[in-house]
Parts: sequence; structure tokens; C-alpha cells
Amino acid sequence: MPRSLWQQQLADSLREPAALARRFGLDPAMAAAVAARYPLAITPHYLALIEHRDDPIGRQCLPDARELATDPTLREDPLAEARHAPVPGLIHRYPDRVVLLAAAQCAVYCRFCTRKRQVGCPALASLAADAEPALDYIARQPAIHDVLLSGGDPLLLEDDRLEQLLLRLRAIPHVETIRIGSRVPVTLPQRVTPRLAALLKKFPPLYLNTHFNHPRELTPAAAEACRLLAEAGVVLGNQSVLLRGVNDAAATLTELFRGLLRLRVRPYYLHQMDLARGTGHFRVRLERGQELLRQLRGPLSGLAIPHYMVDLPGGCGKIPLTPEYVVQLGDRALLRTPDGAVISYANHPRD
Ligand SMILES: *Cc1c(COP(=O)(O)O)cnc(C)c1O
Ligand code: SF4
Repeated sequence: MPRSLWQQQLADSLREPAALARRFGLDPAMAAAVAARYPLAITPHYLALIEHRDDPIGRQCLPDARELATDPTLREDPLAEARHAPVPGLIHRYPDRVVLLAAAQCAVYCRFCTRKRQVGCPALASLAADAEPALDYIARQPAIHDVLLSGGDPLLLEDDRLEQLLLRLRAIPHVETIRIGSRVPVTLPQRVTPRLAALLKKFPPLYLNTHFNHPRELTPAAAEACRLLAEAGVVLGNQSVLLRGVNDAAATLTELFRGLLRLRVRPYYLHQMDLARGTGHFRVRLERGQELLRQLRGPLSGLAIPHYMVDLPGGCGKIPLTPEYVVQLGDRALLRTPDGAVISYANHPRD
């Protein structure tokens, strides 16, 4: 069978650290050391957006020596997801919703990924290959109304497998909404075929949160992917991560969020970086994030402004960084959890 365009993109992705090092003038020993620790892949589509290794696209996907730095404030599993997994591959932290790790692979491995310890690894792949324990658990818990498919990237599943999973979830009466978290509209827009859109159209209400971080990612191919999804009745949102040297400027965020609205994608969350090992060089201080959000409010349509969210360490939950949740900022911030407790948070050091 001839390969589809998206499968061809995956087959042609750059995964060899030596090839990447040659192409971008990186230290080959460093690239090999990073690739030995964390997965590496860049699709031709995303590769073509890199103009220079230190530009906002290159920084998101090229290996960096700082991924191997040791920092005692950063953890392998900062959100204690392992502790909130009642069955393997399912995270149940809030009463009414769960995260189901449906796939292990991503089209491009983001260097700032919170789950970089897991994505692309065989252990996650074997979990994701068998969703039965997770489906059984969801079926037995009538309080669960919202299932978030995550991973890895669920849209890297083949159409048949994705359809089976959606059929099984839709057959559970108390599952009201299904959400897909996927970066393929950004990194592999060819994956959003008319066939995929027709498949997704059968499962309303279906929400898809994608993950654009920079206006340069808003390509014609990405716009076409979003158009197909929107016309299939999929409700589109976007979760960005606030990344040092990538999008930590008001003008960049303004262009990104305004551009997303043009694509019918509603900015949902702007995430503070989690305290995940190997990602510290992307962190921005909380005060800076707040200041950026203040600069957007007023000049930019309210529809384009996401909530600025911190997922508290230890699995204490996500909070918007609004005054109700901030007890005190500073090098050691004090933040309120959704339960009203106050916890200490390691802010990024001052420059
Ligand atoms: C983020 C997250 C959700 C979804 O949270 P919303 O604020 O509803 O988008 C659900 N479960 C877990 C474990 C999460 O981390
Ligand atoms: S697409 Fe998402 S899950 Fe995959 S590497 Fe990037 S941030 Fe991590």
C-alpha cells in the first residue's frame, strides 16, 4: 500500500543526532548524549521552519547540553502522575475527569516536555497499546464525565485504532465529553486528513486542544488542518507553554493568540513550565509571566487571552496565577492549591 503523506513525513523525520549535529553545527558528542537520554525526532514539515538553531523553532526541538544539567528543584515526575495512576496509563487527579495515555510517540519531541522521561519510551508504548484496564476503570466510575486523550500524541494512532478507542469511550454512558491533546496540527499537519476529520466528526462533543507556541508555527498547512477539524465540528483550543527565548515577549504572544483566533482556535491555557528535569533552561519567572499577561489585557481581544496556569508540584493541581491563588511571590513563592492549602514553589532564579 502506498504510504500516506503523513506516514511519509514520519518515515523521513530526522532522528539521528549525528545528522542533526552536522546540519545545525551542534557538538556531535552533546547531541548523542542528549539523544541517549531523551527521544529525538523532527518532521520535515517542522524542520523546514527552522531558520537558525537558536531561533524559536530550533530551540523547541534541537538537543541542548542544558537538558543534561542537574538541578535539585527539578524532578523526573514533577506532577506525581505516577501516584495518581489508579491503573497504568490513566491519571485520575480530579473527580470528574481523567487523562488517558493513549499513545507513546510524538511527531516531534519537544525539548521542554513535562513527560520527557516517558514519551517515545517502550514502557509507555506497552501501556498505551493496552487501554483495557483504563477503559474498565472509567466504566466503573460514574463520576468521570470528561476523558482527555494524551500521551504521546493520540493522533499518531492509526485511524482504525483511534476509532476503536473513541467507540469504546462513547459506549460508556457517563462519559460526556472527550478531549484530545495533540501537537500534530503544528508538527505534522498532514496527519489531519479528510478521512481523519470524517472519523472525528462521528464523536461529538469532541474537543481538541492543540499546542502552538510561536506565530511562525501558524503555517498554511497548520491552518488547513485546523480548518478540516473545525468543519468536522471539533471544538478547537490551544495550550501553549511559556518558554524562555521562544515566546516570552508580549508582541510574540499577541501575534500568536490573534493568529490562533483566525484559525478558529481559542487560546485556553498558557502554562508555566513544570518543574521537570531537563527543561530548566526554558523556565520564566512567575512575575514575568504575570507581567506579560497584564500587557495583553486591554490591547488584545478577551477571546484571545488564555489563563496563565501553574500545575503545582506533587500533584496538588492546576491553578490560574490570579491573586486568589498567590499568597506571595519571590524566589520561594507561596501558592494556594485548589483545596486551599498553601505550598512553597521554587520560582525560577532572577537573571
Ligand atoms: C490538566 C489536567 C486535567 C484537565 O484540567 P482542565 O483544567 O480541566 O483542563 C485533568 N487531569 C489531569 C491529571 C491534568 O493534569
Ligand atoms: S508533543 Fe506534547 S507530549 Fe509530545 S514531546 Fe511535545 S510536549 Fe511532549
